[in-house]
Amino acid sequence: MDTTPTLINITRATVSKIGSVDFENLTFGNVFTDHMLACEYSNGAWQAPVIKPYEPFMIDPSAKVFHYGQAIFEGMKAYKDEHDDVWLFRPDENYDRFNKSAARLAMPEVPENIFIGGLKALLNIEREWVKKGKGNSLYIRPFMIATGSGVIAAPSTQYRFMIILSPARSYYSGEVKVIIAEHYSRAANGGIGAAKAAGNYSAQFYPTKLANEQGFQQIIWTDDATHTRLEEAGTMNVFFRINDTLYTAPTSERILDGVTRKSIIELAARENIPVEVRPVLVSEIVAAAENGTLKEIFGAGTAAVINPICGFSYKGKYYELPVSEDTFAAELKEKLTNIQYKLAEDTFGWTV
Ligand code: PMP
Repeated sequence: MDTTPTLINITRATVSKIGSVDFENLTFGNVFTDHMLACEYSNGAWQAPVIKPYEPFMIDPSAKVFHYGQAIFEGMKAYKDEHDDVWLFRPDENYDRFNKSAARLAMPEVPENIFIGGLKALLNIEREWVKKGKGNSLYIRPFMIATGSGVIAAPSTQYRFMIILSPARSYYSGEVKVIIAEHYSRAANGGIGAAKAAGNYSAQFYPTKLANEQGFQQIIWTDDATHTRLEEAGTMNVFFRINDTLYTAPTSERILDGVTRKSIIELAARENIPVEVRPVLVSEIVAAAENGTLKEIFGAGTAAVINPICGFSYKGKYYELPVSEDTFAAELKEKLTNIQYKLAEDTFGWTV
C-alpha cells in the first residue's frame, strides 16, 4: 500500500507536556499528546495535512456536525516493543472501516496517504508517548466532522479530518454485569449501526444510564425487530462460550465489524478452539445458563481487548456465570496481546 505522506507541514510544540503526565495513573482518554494532525476538505478536495500543537480550534456555530451529527471516528492503538519500535495492529482494517463509515454518512473518503501516512508521521513525532511494557499503549483517535456552515439538513461541503493521541494503561473495568436489552436498540436494519458514527454512541447513553441505575455496567444489545438475538455488548462485540465452543453473531448492518472480533475468530481457529459465527439467541443463552453449559461471556474491542462478563440479567432474573481461572477469555487475550507487543511471533502478519 502506498502510504507515503503527502507533504505534511509540521509545526512543533515549543514545550512538551510529557514531563507533567503521571503515566502510572492515567484514566482512559483524558490526556492527549503534544501534537495533532488536521486536514481540511474544501472545494471537493483534501488539502495538505498539517501536524501542529494540540489545541482547541474555532468552528462556526452553524456547522453541520452540531446540528445533523455528521461525525465519524476510529479507535486503534500503537504499542512499543522491547527494542523501542512502535507497532500498529491491523491499521488497514481501521482505515477501510473509516471510509465505510464516511460513505454511509455521505462524507468524503480520506485517502490512505493522509490517514495511514499522516498517522505514521504523527506517531514518529510522538514516539516518547508510547510507553514500553505490556498493557501500555497510545490510543489513536482519527475522526472526521462536517465543518460546513448552515442549518440546512444536507451534507456539508466542508470537512475536517483529525488524529489525536492519548496514552493509555491496560484497561480494567472491574466486574462487568450486563443486562440484555428488551426495549432499546443501538442499531436497526437499514440504519448506521455498522458505521462508527458519533450518533450511535450518544444514542446508547440513555439506556446505559438506566442500566447503570439498576446496577449493571453495560447492555447486551439485541436485534431491534425481535430482541431475540444477542448482538453486541456495550461498545464491544460479544462472544459466548457454551461447553467448549465460542459463538458470536455474524456482522450485519446492525453490528460493527470489530477488528478484535475478527482477530479472535482467526486466533481461536489457530488454537483449535471451535468458533461458530451464527445468530446467538437469547433463549439458548438463558437455557445454557440454567443447565450449566454457559461457561463464559466476553466483550471484544480495542480499548479493553477482551472484557469478561460475570453475569447477566434478562426479564428481571439474574444469571451468574461460573468463576474459573482457566478461561478462553484469558487465553485469547494473552495470545492476542503477545502478538500486539511483539512478544510472540505474528504468524498472521497483523503488526505494522
Ligand atoms: N462494537 C462497537 C459498537 C464499537 O464501538 C467497537 C469499538 N470500536 C467494537 C464493537 C469493537 O471494535 P474493535 O475491535 O475494532 O475496536
